[in-house]
Amino acid sequence: MNPCDLSSSSAAELLARPPYAGRLLIDGDWADARDGATLERRSPAHDVLVARYAQAGVAEAQAAIGAARRAFDSGPWPRMKGAERAALLRRVADGIVRHQERLALLETLENGKPLAQSRAEIAAAAELWHYAAALARQLKGDSYDTLGEDTLGVVLREPVGVVGIITPWNFPFLIVSQKLPFALAAGCTAVVKPAEVTSGTTVMLGEILLEAGLPAGVVNILVGTGPVVGETLVTDARVDMLSFTGSTAVGKAAVAKAAGTLKKVSMELGGKNPQIVFPDADLEAALDAAVFGVYFNAGQCCNSGSRLLVHDAIAAEFTAAVVERSKRVRMGDPLDAQTQVGAITTERQLHAIEAHVGAAREAGACIALGGARCGGRGLYYEPTVVSGVGRDMAIAHEEVFGPVLAVLTFRDLDEAVELANSTLYGLSAAVWSRDVDTCLGAARRIKAGTVWVNTFLEGHAELPFGGYRQSGLGRELGRHAAEDYTETKTLHLHLGQRTDWWLPA
Ligand code: NAD
Repeated sequence: MNPCDLSSSSAAELLARPPYAGRLLIDGDWADARDGATLERRSPAHDVLVARYAQAGVAEAQAAIGAARRAFDSGPWPRMKGAERAALLRRVADGIVRHQERLALLETLENGKPLAQSRAEIAAAAELWHYAAALARQLKGDSYDTLGEDTLGVVLREPVGVVGIITPWNFPFLIVSQKLPFALAAGCTAVVKPAEVTSGTTVMLGEILLEAGLPAGVVNILVGTGPVVGETLVTDARVDMLSFTGSTAVGKAAVAKAAGTLKKVSMELGGKNPQIVFPDADLEAALDAAVFGVYFNAGQCCNSGSRLLVHDAIAAEFTAAVVERSKRVRMGDPLDAQTQVGAITTERQLHAIEAHVGAAREAGACIALGGARCGGRGLYYEPTVVSGVGRDMAIAHEEVFGPVLAVLTFRDLDEAVELANSTLYGLSAAVWSRDVDTCLGAARRIKAGTVWVNTFLEGHAELPFGGYRQSGLGRELGRHAAEDYTETKTLHLHLGQRTDWWLPA
């Protein structure tokens, strides 16, 4: 039996374990904050202390940036062969698999998501490290032999430098794994700041990186708040690139501040993603995806299918079916193997959800199901279906980030596409129909970084991910993922005698 296997432990036993103790990873060493500041995290599902961290301030952030800068400017990492970097990334992937149970448990305790889901996310993250390892050996430039006999053009790809990585609390380990291994594959060094409420698995990743033999200073990890540590990463001139995932509001402010040093930015932001259901769809499959799409991760998902656009002809029946299915979603203790939907991650987010649903009620929408917090000590919100939503209501276009589905109706394809495109976001969408013209006609006109056809929320390392419009800037994953962390340099080589500009009089 695997001694780390958690399946034989009861929830009470898991909660009785001592809290995880995390420190700051700066220049290859674990450190406490100079002023002794600490930060505690309680499980949102159980209100139990699950982690205690050293909390970085500006001084620690500056030290971490300095270490990453030195590691980039004079350390071995950017100068290694791609094959050597790939070998290290593979060792990290293996380490993630070895520590999967520890990582999954802490992810669940801090975030509130079901343990089985955390396990799957950790396994998916390990795959991303493997994929990035493969890209580390593929990075290459270009050459131009068509510029004339006396010219050879060579385009080099060089690592961009020090990358500041800022991540949110909804998929802490998966999101850092969408960024960090690709930056490392390119030869960059990094300072990583996870969301302060879910820092644990990113700090554990630091342990795995050291175990794998990463040179000192290449990755520095800081537990700390956005306005202090995050903002230092955004504004410090020694950081060459910012890779941010979080809300559109904070992301926009970060882009504006990053402009002060004109650093490169990559932004993965919010979404209000429509699932469009036509009458000729496989309605059983669409129903399953509608329910899964909005309740997965308690709706705290940038890709949440938070808008259901249903054709008039089936709207009443389909909405009733969604309500019925929603009643049967298994919400509860994330440590229980039967649970499909766990807790809301923070009290603040729970208040935000309540405010969104309250505003929808006041605007005249119908709360067809749910609409209230539930559970005892933990932070839970009922599966909620809001119907009768007018296109001008806030609930039709604002991101709720909770288990709340807004249902709107349409008459034809043109109206469906127009509604789909009627928010400021453009992260993802889904089209449900058995007609290829309907599916492709809609998919090509929808302004979104991902359009699923007859499925929802599937992802692969090979497929780029990111948003149109105010859902982001740039793409992650896919074969170009490591290139995003590079600069190009042109070498213009002249062969033979150059023709002088200076003509003697
Ligand atoms: P958030 O914007 O509040 O925080 C994200 C990160 O930014 C955190 O680490 C936070 O500490 C940091 N931060 C806060 N203020 C900062 C500042 N002034 N300067 C620098 N950093 C600062 O987002 P959140 O509540 O953690 O996450 C939810 C949001 O993230 C949602 O809008 C969701 O749609 C979005 N998200 C997007 C994607 C995507 O890939 N597009 C993925 C997951 C989440």
